[in-house]
Amino acid sequence: MMAAPLAVLPAGVSSPVFARALAQLRKVVGPEYVLVDREALLPYEKLMLAAPQDEYAPSGAILAATVEQVQGVLAVCNKYRVPLWPISTGRNFGYGSALPATRGQLILDLKRMDRILDVDPVLSTALVEPGVTYQQLHDHIAERNLPLWLDFPGGGPLVGPLGNTLERGTGSTPYADHFAHACGMEVVLADGRVLRTGMGSLPGSRSWQAYRYGYGPYLDGLFTQSNFGIVTKLGLWLMPSPASYRTILVQYPEDAALERAVETIRPLRLAGTIANPCALSNAALALTAYTRRAELNQSGGPTPDAVILSAARQHGIEPWNLSFTLYGTAEQIAPNLDIVTRAFEMSGGRVDPDHHDPSQVNELNLDAFHLLDWVGGGGLAWLAPVSAALGADAARQRDIARGILGRHGFDYLAAPTVYGRDLHHLIALVFDHGDPQALQRARTAFRELARAFLDNGYGFARTGIDYMSALAREYGETHREVNRTLKRALDPNGILAPGKAGIRP
Ligand SMILES: Cc1cc2nc3c(=O)[nH]c(=O)nc-3n(C[C@H](O)[C@H](O)[C@H](O)COP(=O)(O)OP(=O)(O)OC[C@H]3O[C@@H](n4cnc5c(N)ncnc54)[C@H](O)[C@@H]3O)c2cc1C
Repeated sequence: MMAAPLAVLPAGVSSPVFARALAQLRKVVGPEYVLVDREALLPYEKLMLAAPQDEYAPSGAILAATVEQVQGVLAVCNKYRVPLWPISTGRNFGYGSALPATRGQLILDLKRMDRILDVDPVLSTALVEPGVTYQQLHDHIAERNLPLWLDFPGGGPLVGPLGNTLERGTGSTPYADHFAHACGMEVVLADGRVLRTGMGSLPGSRSWQAYRYGYGPYLDGLFTQSNFGIVTKLGLWLMPSPASYRTILVQYPEDAALERAVETIRPLRLAGTIANPCALSNAALALTAYTRRAELNQSGGPTPDAVILSAARQHGIEPWNLSFTLYGTAEQIAPNLDIVTRAFEMSGGRVDPDHHDPSQVNELNLDAFHLLDWVGGGGLAWLAPVSAALGADAARQRDIARGILGRHGFDYLAAPTVYGRDLHHLIALVFDHGDPQALQRARTAFRELARAFLDNGYGFARTGIDYMSALAREYGETHREVNRTLKRALDPNGILAPGKAGIRP
């Protein structure tokens, strides 16, 4: 019987060769775990970005359940030169979701590897596989009644710590920098060898999740935002539950206060008085929790500021809205509350010391998804130009963003966020993905925004599959050449995620 022709083939691989590879892959993972029918692939194909779906169509998906199966898959893919795009929970929404950076890659879905291998309440650490979600880890901790908190990104219940950490994703508590709180990886290299980083390579090691650097070069960074290996285990540091906490809302009643707000936050973050990131949500972003754009604005242009503000104020929202949390004993919190109240009031902020933000206090939620309701239609591309945490830079970024978004008919939905010495000006470009004109406008606006930020010296810490190569070029030839040298050394056939972070063999 002749098999139906495959709709999408890996670049440079003929249909008969791909069919042979698939036959061998079916032996490795079982036939039901090799998906090539378009229908079976639909869950992988939902692209939110403003990019032509077709350019990122996968040739199939394969679901491995063990390290041995991952090694088996790699052997076949090396033999037939089939490119493999590993995903963990595959919900990289606003950056490419589960889709590969180039057409025709075979998605290696690791969601079946979903064991929580260890949670140590004494050291506050965990060891997880790629498919573990934050919800699963949260439930596990709750069932064992352990005094541990999780830090998770927006979308926390659906996504997982391993994939998020490999993207160097962020959350909202003092453990917000996920890579900074990762400790030890197990990585399957392209040739099938298994590397354990940090203390993990030492026979009989008893400190894999306790000490990050091991001996010699610190390798873990090489496996984040890269295509140098497949990570099959990740160690995590978890936050011990604090004795108590107090979440504070600071609101600034005028747009011009952004600069002052950032100047006020930075010293408090650097001194450790505020231990978690400080995201300043603008009125439009905060308003997405309550209203849709269509209720305020039927024009093709951006919603006027005055209209946004008047609607926002009905819900107690101001031009800039910041919430952060003080963690610790009541004795620790009281003096810090005095310090922050004085500082924010002096800068013109109104302080409410009795606020609640679930993401800052270990309560998983899907609140962030409200921003997609603003226009509907499921289009989302994130842009977060990075600057030093200086008020003048935040204001300049705001002006660039507002100008370009407005010219293309989009609203400026933003949360400039001070992490420490760095500020990431998070901007959500939301649009109706089903409307080809809106998609085209979003694509143009994204490129124009990215160009303008780069021309002003603001790079990006992460980007979508449609902009990875362009962004990598901005970081210069030496940077690219070093990455290429590593790629050739670690993956000579170039089968792992070509195009990831702009790195190609
Ligand atoms: C409303 C909303 C809010 C969001 N808020 C946040 C936020 O607060 N913080 C944040 O960081 N993100 C946020 N995101 C973006 C995104 O949803 C998260 O970053 C999410 O955690 C990434 O998806 P994932 O965890 O399923 O990772 P995956 O999609 O599984 O992995 C991400 C990428 O990492 C690589 N990768 C994954 N697994 C492996 C592996 N085992 N080996 C090698 N490479 C691998 C692949 O390139 C993959 O594409 C948000 C998205 C939305 C829509």
